[in-house]
Amino acid sequence: MKDNMLETIMQRIREAPRIMLFRHIRIDGDCVGATKGLQEILRQSYPGKEVYLIDDQHSDYLAFLGPDDPPLPDEMYVGALGIVVDTGDRGRISNPRYALCRELINIDHHIEKVPYGDYAWVEEERSSACEMIAALYYAYRDELVLTPRAATCLYTGMVTDSGRFKFRGVTGETLRYAGMLLDAGVDTESLYAHLYLKDFDSLTFKAYLYEHIRRTENGVAYLYVSRAMQETFGLTFEAACTCVSSMDSIKGCLCWIAFIETPDGDGSIRVRLRSRFVTISALAERYRGGGHACASGSTVYDETEVQALLAEADQLVADYKATHEGWM
Ligand code: AMP
Repeated sequence: MKDNMLETIMQRIREAPRIMLFRHIRIDGDCVGATKGLQEILRQSYPGKEVYLIDDQHSDYLAFLGPDDPPLPDEMYVGALGIVVDTGDRGRISNPRYALCRELINIDHHIEKVPYGDYAWVEEERSSACEMIAALYYAYRDELVLTPRAATCLYTGMVTDSGRFKFRGVTGETLRYAGMLLDAGVDTESLYAHLYLKDFDSLTFKAYLYEHIRRTENGVAYLYVSRAMQETFGLTFEAACTCVSSMDSIKGCLCWIAFIETPDGDGSIRVRLRSRFVTISALAERYRGGGHACASGSTVYDETEVQALLAEADQLVADYKATHEGWM
């Protein structure tokens, strides 16, 4: 089944003179790495094809992977093959011009509530979309070209979406593909420096966060980052959103949630939900979101919704603890 789908995808790619690549809003290492890695592989493998990646989003910490392509007129999308990567919901595709494409391929590892795309290769259990692009490359390695740059992009997404190969989606196959990418020439020291070194000033925000983490009765850790706090610490919204990882290693807290007020002007609050053992994606879906079993995102609009979401998360953790052993 999967092999058939890979062959179908390759056929569509082979036949397409122009390919447009798409990813999700609120870019992260996986969607950026997967689109840039795929673009590099396709450009190197088929020099006669036009392969574009156009997006108006920017990420400071992923800027080292290089810029996207400049905008193109709508006519360039019409008749092109579109490939959407790492996006579980059609409504989250960042560049709306995907709708102009002749055909759409969807390559993803999210839980997809409403399947989309003329061809969909979706494997929820994969630890990253980059792993899927690596798998596609590996299956067609006699035809496709993997450069050190493509390998670096794909490795970036594998590292970031798997919590540095820590989350439960990581399999032997994940590590074999990671090994293949390393062999193709990834400079890991430089990569980890780009991804994880922090400005000295950002440590004061970290210190503040650690003092303000709260816990619910049954073990949900949470943080609330207001716009005022973002301004006080001189943070970009992207930097403020990284606060979720400050709560990832607290014994007994099987779920941790960051609420970050957005700069969108509509009162929206971005919610980043993470968990160990407990599945939180259905909870995220009840608050305009979705994602993976243990890493999801949502949006809420006021304090009442914040409290309601926290109460539901607390109940999930309570139920889990009451019915399972071996959690920490
Ligand atoms: P985040 O905390 O925003 O990084 O989200 C965690 C994971 O859930 C990522 O893989 C996101 O792509 C995914 N995600 C976030 N928001 C949504 C949503 N509204 N619908 C579907 N997936 C989402």
